Amino acid sequence: MSMLNDAEWHNGILEALDDPALIVDRGIVSQCNVAARELLGDHIAGQDVRMAIRHPDGLSAILATENKRQVLSGLNATLGRVEISCSTLKDNIRFVIFRDVSVQERVARVHTDFVANASHELRTPLANILGYVETLSDDKMVDDGETRDRFLGIISREAQRMNGLIDDLMSLSRIEARKHDLPQTLVDLKKAIARVDDQDRGRLSMPEQTLQVRGDESQLVQLFQNLVSNAIRYGHETQPIDIVIEATSRDSVIISVTDYGEGIAPEHLPRLTERFFRVDDGRSRAAGGTGLGLSIVKHIVERHRGRFDISSKLGVGTTASVILPLGEPQ
Ligand code: ADP
Repeated sequence: MSMLNDAEWHNGILEALDDPALIVDRGIVSQCNVAARELLGDHIAGQDVRMAIRHPDGLSAILATENKRQVLSGLNATLGRVEISCSTLKDNIRFVIFRDVSVQERVARVHTDFVANASHELRTPLANILGYVETLSDDKMVDDGETRDRFLGIISREAQRMNGLIDDLMSLSRIEARKHDLPQTLVDLKKAIARVDDQDRGRLSMPEQTLQVRGDESQLVQLFQNLVSNAIRYGHETQPIDIVIEATSRDSVIISVTDYGEGIAPEHLPRLTERFFRVDDGRSRAAGGTGLGLSIVKHIVERHRGRFDISSKLGVGTTASVILPLGEPQ
């Protein structure tokens, strides 16, 4: 049985790692894996570590004698923030591994922004409710029935806004929690559309045959509901809405909702499914929008392995379409 020497051991372990890693022996890069050469350049093999790593904090972590872990910015031009972790294997031999933490930091930032936005969205109606309740508790208000009714109306509207927001937040987290769990039940699309509120305000066009997808019926109803609600909310008051279901091929179906409203400027289109993104804050709020509708649509479509697209032309109108795989090929 052949015995591996230290260098062979180190090499085997380094190459098994996906992250860039090096062995530094008395200040020289004695071994490095493919990922490290990609990160720092092919020249690092056999080089003095002071030449290989031109980052003062990174260098001092490598040349220290104790275990060190540090986040570095600007280690190379392409990578964002990198965490370097250094430990001593024996004597002056240091093991160094790099980990890209920029994605992790971005996810953490999106999460914090979301919590901050959600709190802000809830706080605004709450502040209004508290303000009007305080005014109503003033004795002088008791006799002025008309003003009192107006204030009560505002309180009720703001409370409903909070309620809608909480419903949407809970839907989002429920959908996200099950996003990898592919729904199995066969759902008849015509029946799902029929359950959407106000769908009768649209002109419905669909084929004779039954079209079924593997899906979660209540989520699909919610998806169509959000698209129809947007078409009503942002469409033209006196123009119709078109809801069209058609089989695009033997194995997929397209459901599109078209309105003839003011449309969306092209620069906003990529951001529509971001949480709380609205083209016009005031307009969305006044119409009872939460800014979460299309984000919910995107998540439901992803869970159903479908595709979502919005095309729009200013002054002409908007078409939101969803392509879903058919449960049984036609
Ligand atoms: P909201 O609750 O504000 O409607 P959504 O996530 O459903 O939130 O939509 C995000 C934004 O996209 C809306 O605030 C609106 O500005 C824009 N939008 C969505 N659908 C349409 C549409 N059919 N026509 C014009 N703008 C739309």
